Amino acid sequence: MKEIVEKQRKFYNSNATKHIRFRKAQLKTLQNALQENETLLHDAIYKDFKKSEFDNYSTEISLLYKDIKEARKNLFQWARRKHVFTSILNFPASSYIVPEPLGVCLVIGAWNYPYQLSFAPVIAAIAAGNTVVLKPSELPTHTAAAMTKIVKENFDPAFFTVVEGGVEETQELLKQKFDKIFFTGSTKVGKIVYKAAAENLTPVTLELGGKSPAIVTESCNLKISVKRLVWGKFLNAGQTCIAPDYVLVHNSIEKKFLEQTKQEIISQHFAFENDNYLQIINNVNFDRLTKLIDSEKIYFGGESNSETRYFQPTVMQNVTLDDAVMQEEIFGPILPVISYNTIEEAISIVNSLPKPLSCYVFTKRDSIKRKVLKEISFGGGAINDTVMHITNSNLPFGGVGHSGIGNYHGEAGFKAFTHYKSVMDKPTWLDPSIRYYPHTPFRLKLMRWFLKL
Ligand code: NAD
Repeated sequence: MKEIVEKQRKFYNSNATKHIRFRKAQLKTLQNALQENETLLHDAIYKDFKKSEFDNYSTEISLLYKDIKEARKNLFQWARRKHVFTSILNFPASSYIVPEPLGVCLVIGAWNYPYQLSFAPVIAAIAAGNTVVLKPSELPTHTAAAMTKIVKENFDPAFFTVVEGGVEETQELLKQKFDKIFFTGSTKVGKIVYKAAAENLTPVTLELGGKSPAIVTESCNLKISVKRLVWGKFLNAGQTCIAPDYVLVHNSIEKKFLEQTKQEIISQHFAFENDNYLQIINNVNFDRLTKLIDSEKIYFGGESNSETRYFQPTVMQNVTLDDAVMQEEIFGPILPVISYNTIEEAISIVNSLPKPLSCYVFTKRDSIKRKVLKEISFGGGAINDTVMHITNSNLPFGGVGHSGIGNYHGEAGFKAFTHYKSVMDKPTWLDPSIRYYPHTPFRLKLMRWFLKL
């Protein structure tokens, strides 16, 4: 690990990555490599957890193409120095901010969208002019191997390389001195990464998880709301960091909501084993999910097959905050439904838990939208939809509190891997003596006047 980092530091110090042309060329190389290997990428992820070609393209690969295209298009603009106002006190001078790469970066990925969560931060790091060590999640073994192969065949490891491995390898990597660590994963491991980064005062972006609520009010369009909610929840078999974790539904529409949710799960073909629906990633997660279900509270679903790791979408009703399913992030296809009487009650339930990564509210009323936005702190979210806010790269993506530190996507990603160097640039043809010693009453008067300007 030490050698890998040393090689990258040497390469970074050569200043090669400082050139915009170099960065654009590397991004293009990545794009071509992904395009040429789409079949390999698809076969690998299908082997790991039966992700279909449609889902692989729409939720992983196409987002990477979009990120690369956007970074290449905007790079000159993002990376150029920005002039800012200089006060009269410093006349004559100009002031500007120079975006500067941080250096050698470590990207640690999660397993649930393995390509997107590994390569999207890498794209941002390359665009910002850094070198990168990528440590993808070890759980989807075929996708990790596919990424290693692609990177090995197309990049100089002194610039961009992949280190495969699990806890041991990641902890070894964390002992090295990096200039930035970008981590996607659980809050528990996020704390380990944060502690390790503190040893070297390395800045971090932590993209973590949590229990993201969906509030379904009596003033919503129920049909569309349920359709979007069911899609966002059971996409990737619920293994999505921004999936609605649980639903708070107004008691006046609870019965209708449950009925429509059941119908929607059936009509979107989530209710039986087929290529539209993913497997649970491994047995550990399969068993963990099984334990979260209280069989007496099942409204729909509850079937599973440990051999094929098929876990039927399961809706639970009459759930309380004391149930096992409300004690941790579900990260699977179980939807607990809790009914509420007033919007204040719904908000206080959400606020009794750590700040979520996402929050969704379904309503036609502006007053409720405003109230939720004002009174609940969350990373990002959507009104009358789920998940789709992630696809708008003009919206910085990240958590707050226990759901994360920092954000990325679009220019926010470039910023996450950039230091903004502030510079005052002064000529020498004029050098007012006012600030120099010895001080006099007249200079003090002048200084008072200047500092007021
Ligand atoms: P995880 O925290 O178990 O693992 C993430 C990474 O950390 C992996 O690469 C793993 O090898 C490494 N790791 C695991 N244990 C470690 C340890 N003890 N020391 C050092 N490294 C260790 O998370 P996961 O299971 O891969 O992903 C699920 C979690 O990630 C969920 O909480 C989910 O909400 C969150 N997530 C967040 C986002 C986001 O963008 N905010 C996206 C996807 C997933």
